[in-house]
Amino acid sequence: MALHVLSVASEAVPLVKTGGLADVAGALPGALAPHGVEMTTLLPGYPAVMMAVKRGRVLHGYDDLLGQHARLVAGKLGAQPLIVLDAPALFAREGGLYGAAAGHDWPDNWLRFSALGRAAADLAGGLVKSRGFDLVHAHDWQAAMALAYLRFAPVKGSRVPPGVMTIHNMAFQGYYGREVFRELGLPRSAWKFDGVEYHGGVGMLKAGMEAASVITTVSPTYAQEIRSAQFGMGLEGLVVSRGDRVRGIVNGIDPAEWNPAVDRHLPVTYTARTLTRRAVNKRALEAEFGLEPGGGPLFVVISRLTWQKGMDVLLEVLDHLVGIGGRLALLGSGDSAMESDFRAAAARHPGRIGVRIGYDEALSHRMQGGGDAILVPSRFEPCGLTQLYGLAYGCVPVVARTGGLADTVIDANLAAREAGAATGVQFSGVDYPTLSAAVSRTVGLYHQPAAWRAIQRNGMKADFSWTNSGRAYAELYRELTGKQ
Ligand code: ADP
Repeated sequence: MALHVLSVASEAVPLVKTGGLADVAGALPGALAPHGVEMTTLLPGYPAVMMAVKRGRVLHGYDDLLGQHARLVAGKLGAQPLIVLDAPALFAREGGLYGAAAGHDWPDNWLRFSALGRAAADLAGGLVKSRGFDLVHAHDWQAAMALAYLRFAPVKGSRVPPGVMTIHNMAFQGYYGREVFRELGLPRSAWKFDGVEYHGGVGMLKAGMEAASVITTVSPTYAQEIRSAQFGMGLEGLVVSRGDRVRGIVNGIDPAEWNPAVDRHLPVTYTARTLTRRAVNKRALEAEFGLEPGGGPLFVVISRLTWQKGMDVLLEVLDHLVGIGGRLALLGSGDSAMESDFRAAAARHPGRIGVRIGYDEALSHRMQGGGDAILVPSRFEPCGLTQLYGLAYGCVPVVARTGGLADTVIDANLAAREAGAATGVQFSGVDYPTLSAAVSRTVGLYHQPAAWRAIQRNGMKADFSWTNSGRAYAELYRELTGKQ
């Protein structure tokens, strides 16, 4: 008998994406199907999502979902079941998923995502008779209230299923003033230090973590790191108190989307055996970024331009990178000061540094398929996906030793190279000396073609498909539900 799981998320590929969360929420249902788990995804009805369920069946109509008219509409996310919360006053707007523009959150985000949580708790409580759920899996603060509602305000008479709270990034916690509490439709008993109250306000991620049967995060190293003040962002005490109820399961990548042998975005496809074909992609990428062909490695960066991602340190290292024969193609957006600093660096190093500000999925594939090395100098990184794509594409990851980057890349030190295990370059601590040394080391390795090729091939052989992670989540669900 299939286990029925309701996955609650604020974004999922192929419908809406701002970051790694969407990749995970989109791939997980398909990865779980072979393990006897049927995962239904609940998404907010943003315009792009409503397009996909235009002819969908209405499962339920609300007159008053936290004061809103809303409907639950059935659809498909890929081949798996989808339910969309159609609440036009909350989600039918132009602009970003979380704000009009980066850094300008919608002022009613607390209401938008509490409504999503309330609807999830209703579904889990049997609101739609034909769809019952054995477990609720909430992703990040935007979905966390689902577990708080299940704990403090479940559908009367219903059996409350276990809940999993997955943290994709501890830096985003959904914290609001205490005045919103009375709008949430929660009983007064929820207002307590191990409930939704957090530093005198409402802490949504915190409330989800308190209510969850198990908390997971997206790599074993990050699960350890968030026990410390440096990475726990104020919630480290709660993490420690949950003990072995905090687990780390590393993300996978979707081989249907990210496979250089069949990638439709690449000028030329290739495998580990036909790596020389990558040269065509590299030439095309150089031309696309206005870079001069050269003898040194072509570094790429595909990233949000933020402090978390170490992009300020990368800016400092660019003159060194160019000075030792490297070139850089960067695709990203985020912090506007960093965006102009990268543009200025490109102007300073014409033909050596090319910068594209924006978001471009197809270009990100071409960069992985043509670049020599991908730089990921994150100060913290719960899992990270771009280094996994780099491994699969023979675009050697050069990464900070933190979170999922530490768990997925094997540094090309002598022992690892002799053992045939090295897959990339790691460095500890993100600052000018460590990053510039890592860039130098990468350039040195690149000029040893046999060693470089071995590193590329090892990475391409590593299995970061969803098979293992899918099994780990399925086992967790079985442990919590007691169902086989
Ligand atoms: P995060 O979720 O913290 O941003 P991840 O590495 O987990 O970081 O996931 C980032 C995802 O977003 C990857 O799939 C990456 O390829 C993609 N991405 C990031 N920036 C861009 C961009 N400017 N254009 C296209 N894809 C991007």
